[in-house]
Amino acid sequence: MFPTTDRSQTVIECLTGTAEKLGVEVKTRCAVQSVDRTEDGRWILLLEDGSSVSAAAIMVATGGIRTPIGAKIASAFGHTVVEAAPSLFTFKVPDRRFRELSGVSVENTTVTVIGEKMNEAGPLLITHWGVSGPVVLKLSARGARELQDLDYQFTIHINWCGGSSLQEIDEILQGQREVSPKKRVHSGIQNFGIPSRLWQSLAAASGIQTDVTWSNLSKEERKRFARELTAGEFSVNGQSLNKDEFVTAGGVSLKEVNFKTMESRLVSGLYFGGEVLDIDGVTGGFNFQSAWTTGRIAGESVASVSS
Ligand SMILES: Cc1cc2nc3c(=O)[nH]c(=O)nc-3n(C[C@H](O)[C@H](O)[C@H](O)COP(=O)(O)OP(=O)(O)OC[C@H]3O[C@@H](n4cnc5c(N)ncnc54)[C@H](O)[C@@H]3O)c2cc1C
Repeated sequence: MFPTTDRSQTVIECLTGTAEKLGVEVKTRCAVQSVDRTEDGRWILLLEDGSSVSAAAIMVATGGIRTPIGAKIASAFGHTVVEAAPSLFTFKVPDRRFRELSGVSVENTTVTVIGEKMNEAGPLLITHWGVSGPVVLKLSARGARELQDLDYQFTIHINWCGGSSLQEIDEILQGQREVSPKKRVHSGIQNFGIPSRLWQSLAAASGIQTDVTWSNLSKEERKRFARELTAGEFSVNGQSLNKDEFVTAGGVSLKEVNFKTMESRLVSGLYFGGEVLDIDGVTGGFNFQSAWTTGRIAGESVASVSS
């Protein structure tokens, strides 16, 4: 849901305006440097400007654990912090089949990470460095940790024909011998769903010369092409951040937090909300949703503790 102004500033103003109306004191430019707990259970926040704040309860909402303070506070009070791993990234695929195809997209693809039992379906976008689009972002979120362990060096199979099997596509290719015997293979099949430049690139990669027609396509060439269309093999050689979205997987272990209140199960009066927790969602607003939902629950719980 977007505000009618279509500006994120409106969301900010809604939140800061409400806080102001309710008399909430907001301090800025005084980062929390450390957190202490007194013997009688009160929390003391030591701020960058040298001042301190005392409270009966605190909520840690310092964002992804690349911001070290959240992990520092959590571990100082005994929490397990799951190591950070980037999520929502695109795959670097230096491959001659993609040369000059940057910007080409295919609506129905399935991408499988070989050896990891991981696959996703959806639209794929070829970029100037490899592949992106919802199918790749979903895979990067699902496999954030496994793909990091592989140092982002792995092999994928791309099925450019959605869920169709090699055999089904081979039959369609074979059928073209009857339907359009004189047409060149490189000129494509109508309404097949693969943009012509990509089709030509995949046909060339299967060793089919540009003048070959459907009637003189050899069985070997046809089989190679069907494989290329349904299980083209590509080497991923690194990741790169999607320019619009970036999330960190990892954070405070969920086992140690009570989801009804977002309070620590280890220390009373310590609450967590947002990306500091070991939660990361797929693209589509789920990270904001998680931050706002856990933030609200934690906020309400903290407010119910007398100051
Ligand atoms: C470029 C970009 C685009 C994104 N797009 C999307 C999207 O489209 N959809 C989606 O769902 N998610 C998206 N995300 C992820 C989403 O923004 C985060 O998951 C979400 O903002 C996390 O909220 P948070 O409140 O936990 O942390 P943050 O929004 O990171 O807020 C943490 C706050 O803590 C403060 N802080 C840090 N250290 C200290 C300290 N020592 N003392 C005091 N304060 C401190 C910071 O200043 C900051 O204000 C995007 C992220 C990025 C970077």
